[in-house]
Amino acid sequence: MNILPNDLHRQYSLHAAEYEEKALEVLRSGWYILGKEVEAFEAEWAAYIGARHCVGLASGLDALWISFRLLGVGEGDEVIVCSNAYIACVMGISMNGARPVFVEPDEYDNIDAEKIEAAVTPRTKAILAVHLFGQACDMDRVMEIARRHGLRVVEDCAQSHGNHWRGRTVGTFGDVGCFSFYPTKGCGAFGDAGCIVTGDADLAERFRVYRNYGSERRYHNRVVGTNSRLDELQAGLLRVKLRHLDEFNAERRAIAARYTAELENPRVRLPRVRPGADCTWHQYVVHAERRDELAAFLKERGIGTIIHYPIPPHLSQAYAYLGKKPGDYPIAERYAGEVLSLPMYNGMTAAEQGAVIDAINSWEP
Ligand SMILES: *Cc1c(COP(=O)(O)O)cnc(C)c1O
Repeated sequence: MNILPNDLHRQYSLHAAEYEEKALEVLRSGWYILGKEVEAFEAEWAAYIGARHCVGLASGLDALWISFRLLGVGEGDEVIVCSNAYIACVMGISMNGARPVFVEPDEYDNIDAEKIEAAVTPRTKAILAVHLFGQACDMDRVMEIARRHGLRVVEDCAQSHGNHWRGRTVGTFGDVGCFSFYPTKGCGAFGDAGCIVTGDADLAERFRVYRNYGSERRYHNRVVGTNSRLDELQAGLLRVKLRHLDEFNAERRAIAARYTAELENPRVRLPRVRPGADCTWHQYVVHAERRDELAAFLKERGIGTIIHYPIPPHLSQAYAYLGKKPGDYPIAERYAGEVLSLPMYNGMTAAEQGAVIDAINSWEP
């Protein structure tokens, strides 16, 4: 058996005719950028998330950096982010000239809210709450600390499409919720796409202007903006995906529940779900001290896995200028050496999952 860590073709196959019909409809419409599909998707995504406004953008990274730009976070400012974040989270901060300040994750693989306050300085302007792996951060604590110190809150929901913190959808707690629709994400496009949600009408309008060269009306430019437009084809296809997102999330929850019930190996620590959070299982991430041996053992049996992520941002070459060294964030560094994402995708068969479970349960290094 050959099992991929993520098999996008399976998910496509579940509703292929619907995607193909929509793609042809858009191709034949003669209108390809910022049109009725984008408008309809923005309204539908806002309704799904429970936010007042949604603005479609070209990627998740754009959603992040434009958020900090429009919230006035720049040179000389600091933004708090978890030390085990995806590199794009950190780039969204540093692209504006602001400095990322890392806070270690807790046992739920997300920012340890108890450690945030110690990282606040007079330069701190914002907290980036990254809902990693499909699990919500403790947004009660994050919002309470932000309010006490007058900080902005941006949520990175790229891996959390439709999960909740105490019953409320993530992306609706902070000033802005950022989403990526990269193909592997919960509601994945067939190319690059992203969006923001916000409850602030003025801020939403500023995103709309900023994404299109800063123009309110064609050729009337209010500010120096960028090109970060969502195209009609992706928006149309995302509308089809969104119709099935609850079904996709339910399937992922069922796959995760079976892993949790049947995986049994003392050398493999299963993911923990924070009380109050529900999880959409963007990844099913186990921890194992001898992770590399486990990955090699599975590979020999035709089972693919991925490491999210092998190098914590502070040790990445791109961030050498921050002057960090090994040992500065020991929890993130340990996690980078022990996390392993098991195969998880819509359309995964019971037999495939059974093979993964049997292999892991039989692993004796
Ligand atoms: C995917 C991802 C991003 C970046 O999204 P792109 O659409 O690839 O630019 C940002 N943050 C997190 C947590 C992600 O998983």
